This record gives sequence, structure tokens and C-alpha cells, in this order.
Amino acid sequence: MTVLDSAGLRGVDTTAGLVNQSDPKWSITAASQKSRPKTSAMSTAITNALTANNASYAASFTKGDLALPPAKKYLVLTCMDARIDPAAALGIELGDAHVIRNAGASAVDALRSIIISEQLLGTNEILLIKHTGCGMLTFTNKDAYAIVSENLGADASNIDFLPFPVLDEAVKNDVEFLKKSEFVPDAVKISGWIYQVETGKIVSVV
Ligand SMILES: [Zn+2]
Repeated sequence: MTVLDSAGLRGVDTTAGLVNQSDPKWSITAASQKSRPKTSAMSTAITNALTANNASYAASFTKGDLALPPAKKYLVLTCMDARIDPAAALGIELGDAHVIRNAGASAVDALRSIIISEQLLGTNEILLIKHTGCGMLTFTNKDAYAIVSENLGADASNIDFLPFPVLDEAVKNDVEFLKKSEFVPDAVKISGWIYQVETGKIVSVV
């Protein structure tokens, strides 16, 4: 399989067109950025705390020579939920794996990253991990459209927020989506899991 290595990315314009800025789904972001004043380095209580944390992290950092492709050739797709720490929960070492996160661990939402991970960077196994207590179980698209409209006066009805009503069904559906996708080779191993935010355990679904 052809994959990129560190050398392979040199000279590549990483700003080039993976995102189509004229796509309507980006228009909300573009419009709101326009109305915001431009500041250079914004300093907040959060940025101050995190830069201080980073200074001590970088002071003892010794892993600057890792290869670009994940050493263990797998990817984890999980939710952005703040209660999940994939590296700690699964023992993922720096440089081992891709960890893709979005609201609900949606395979549809993550497909762009999954294709890049597999086709350009050589991963060949996917662990899809949704979780108990996920926010995506708590609303419908209609609810989200109403909230966005109320808060922002914006019409989000062209966005599928990909909520789901039943957790284990959603895991199965997403695994099925990946297995059927022409962008995911049959040889890629795919498993579906539920992470229990109450216990820290992962449970196999499919
Ligand atoms: Zn979640």
C-alpha cells in the first residue's frame, strides 16, 4: 500500500482544498468570522492555563522523532465527550494510532478522516466507540434546528446533526455504514464498542 511518510509530506501544500469553502455548510462559520474583530494572539484564562501546562509538557518532551504514519496501524473513532480519555482508557501511546473524535463518534462525519488515515497513512483496523450518556441520544435534528434558529437566527436545516435514539443500534449502523462504504477496503477490520462513562470499561457490540 502506498502511504505518506514524514518525507512524503514535505512540499505538500497542506492548506490545499480538502474543505470546499463555498459549500453551504461552511457558510455559517465564514459569516460569523467576518463579523468578529481580528485579534492576533488572544489571551484568556484558558489559554494562559493551557500554555503553562504546555510549557511543562514540552520541557520534558522526548518523542519528537516519531514517524508520521501510526506505528500500530489502527484508528479509534470516538465521541468528543469530555469524559472520555482514549489514550488513557485504551493505553494508546504517542505515535501508535489515529484518534478521530466528533459528536457521537459518527462514522458518516468521520469518513473524510478515515479515508485519509487508511489510504494515505496506512491504517487497516477501526475501533468505533460510542458511549453511554451520549448527548446525541438527547435531541433530534428538529430540536437542534430550533435551538440554532433561536440562538443565532440562522437556518441550520441543511445540516444533519446525526443524532441517534438507540445506542447499540447506532454502533451497529455505523459499523455497517463503514463495511458497505466503497471507501473502506474489505480487508479493514472493523469493530463496534460502547464505552461506559460510569465504569471506564469498553463493551463489545459488534
Ligand atoms: Zn457522546
